[in-house]
Amino acid sequence: MTQDEKLDRLANIAVKIGVNVQKDQELIISAPIEARGLVQRIAAHAYDAGATLVVPFFADEVIQRTRFIHADDESFDFAPAWVYEAMAKSIGDGAAVLTIVGSDPMLLAGCDAARIGRTQRATAAAMKPMRALISSFATNWSILSFATPGWARSVFPDETPDVAVAKLWEAIFAVSRIDQPDPVAAWRDHAATLLDRCDILNARRFAALRFRGPGTDLRVGLAEDHLWAGGATEARNGVVCLPNMPTEEVFTMPHKMMVEGIVSATKPLVNGGALIEDIVVRFEAGRIVEATASKGQEVLRALIGTDEGAARLGEVALVPAASPVAQSGLIFRNTLFDENAASHIALGQALALNMQGGCDAARGANESLIHVDWMIGSAQIDVDGISAAGAVEPVMRAGAFVL
Ligand code: ZN
Repeated sequence: MTQDEKLDRLANIAVKIGVNVQKDQELIISAPIEARGLVQRIAAHAYDAGATLVVPFFADEVIQRTRFIHADDESFDFAPAWVYEAMAKSIGDGAAVLTIVGSDPMLLAGCDAARIGRTQRATAAAMKPMRALISSFATNWSILSFATPGWARSVFPDETPDVAVAKLWEAIFAVSRIDQPDPVAAWRDHAATLLDRCDILNARRFAALRFRGPGTDLRVGLAEDHLWAGGATEARNGVVCLPNMPTEEVFTMPHKMMVEGIVSATKPLVNGGALIEDIVVRFEAGRIVEATASKGQEVLRALIGTDEGAARLGEVALVPAASPVAQSGLIFRNTLFDENAASHIALGQALALNMQGGCDAARGANESLIHVDWMIGSAQIDVDGISAAGAVEPVMRAGAFVL
């Protein structure tokens, strides 16, 4: 298969499985400027599927970094709310959304952490109405990746730029099941497996999960009426979409007041263009009371300090250590990939689909401007489920499901 054929398959599954674009539906696509060719292919498939209009928004990372070098210090609290308001309006009118990511994890290396924090807060506040529509699945949406040179350089620092990009594409195609004879059918099978796993976990009604391994002994209380989700999701408009490609996780809602213990990250976290390594965090009564990192500690603390809910959990997810993403052996420095290589927790906003009747703070749903996933699983981590009566049942051993 040529590179063009593979990109075309990726575009096809993004339209048919990822977003599942419907006839007479508008499609909004956000993408890095480097992904223009892929967006053009996606547009072709979307129009074949009957889309009324494909509206692309391209972002330029050079301009993003330029801001941190040339803009006035007072300007970093500004975000273009009008863009997100327009998108929210369009989603309200029925548009589907596809986000293509591929940012250079080191884009803002050396830039002022306080400015990065202010920019993130301003952007998160401006995006809030749109994010609420997305996280409550008002429409069908999906996220997909594109191998930009900046991202590839960060994953394969010792390769030439061309080789790094080629290797990153190889990895993306492998974990996206592009090499399978029928990628659309392979994705349907995989989504069914994830759904089975959710059914089993939902039947257990665990009160808490306990993670144990090197540097980790963490008890994550689960919210009342929590729901496990994973794979495909039926949006409120009735369209079944696959929000993340790739996806290997099943995830649910922690109780925001009931997380206790110490947890060590098993992979670096990339946030706001900065790399945070060797995170160790201690929770008391659901809240982070101590946070350290060997690198990027200031960015981590700024992130946790975004608002009250940023120091509490909004998601806990289980991913087998043998997932295709983990098997690649790579650290992608991209949450969409790394979160599918390992069990993880997310700081910040809880997800409406993880609680019967949607997010309710009284039953433990966390609220925040942020939602940042962060990897805590590996082949050395065991997970137990704990019932309300205190009975313990093994869920994962050495990173594999045993339930
Ligand atoms: Zn997740």
